Amino acid sequence: MHHQHEESPLTITPDASTPTAPVPTHSTYQTRVADYWNTEENPVNLELGRIDDLYHHHYGIGAADRSVLDEPDAGLRRERITTELHRLEQDQADLLATHLGPLSPVDRVFDAGCGRGGGSVVANLRYGCHADGVTISAKQAEFANEQARKRGIEDKVAYHHRNMLATGFRTGAYAASWNNESTMYVELDLLFAEHARLLRRGGRYVTITGCYNDAYGRASREVSLINAHYICDIHPRSEYFRAMARNRLVPVHVEDLTADALPYWQLRKEADHLVTGIEDTFMTAYENGSFQYLLIAADRV
Ligand code: SAH
Repeated sequence: MHHQHEESPLTITPDASTPTAPVPTHSTYQTRVADYWNTEENPVNLELGRIDDLYHHHYGIGAADRSVLDEPDAGLRRERITTELHRLEQDQADLLATHLGPLSPVDRVFDAGCGRGGGSVVANLRYGCHADGVTISAKQAEFANEQARKRGIEDKVAYHHRNMLATGFRTGAYAASWNNESTMYVELDLLFAEHARLLRRGGRYVTITGCYNDAYGRASREVSLINAHYICDIHPRSEYFRAMARNRLVPVHVEDLTADALPYWQLRKEADHLVTGIEDTFMTAYENGSFQYLLIAADRV
């Protein structure tokens, strides 16, 4: 029997031969998230993208042209609603891209949780920059790379089937990075540590995200329903700023987009060919004050 009680715990070193448990690349949870996105084929994600081959899996912002609902021809009405929703989603992507800049064609950007790839294409079209998109869904990465090839930008825009918490990309190689509606799938401290590692000093980080409102209290029923619908875990607003502060990300611009987010949902609710069933929940969550749509831009210091 050993007598180790006199030894400080700090001086105990592990036995070099102690076998360590294998660390899986993805947690079981992340595998389930990947399963979701590998099988996801919602018309709202595919029909909108087909219009101009910019595939977005986020919501939209700004005033909606509701006159599209008055179109008497049923087929044309569907088409006009689809186009209007796509315009609102595109406006959101453009708003985010605006906050990434200025950037030049030699710069490199990191699109964390890139979906079917629209955001990286938007950044490339605007700035001519290189982009690396990362998604936990192999199918999405494949789809997005095919789109980049079709556009002839595959030398500048590449998508990778990787975990955004551990990308393996080069430290300090990125001038800007972002999460567009993908922060609710991960622990913020791990996520921001990876962004801080990848961004060069003075680099820009931007997120657009739904968060629950600390001033309301804890997660409301609606917030919990959204979590269940997407298999995610919406963070409170406060957690974004705490986790950024802990990871050398200093907010420079914060915008509450909640009021701007509503018209998209109000129009989408009328689109029988596109609804997924979560529309009312989003509207109630925004209206009862428990849920907010936020843009945060931060500098890597
Ligand atoms: N940003 C995209 C897609 C948002 S949907 C857009 O605006 O269109 C959420 C995305 O997060 C999906 O592509 C999903 O695969 C990705 N995701 C979730 N957890 C991830 C993880 N740990 N690593 C990489 N991607 C992840």
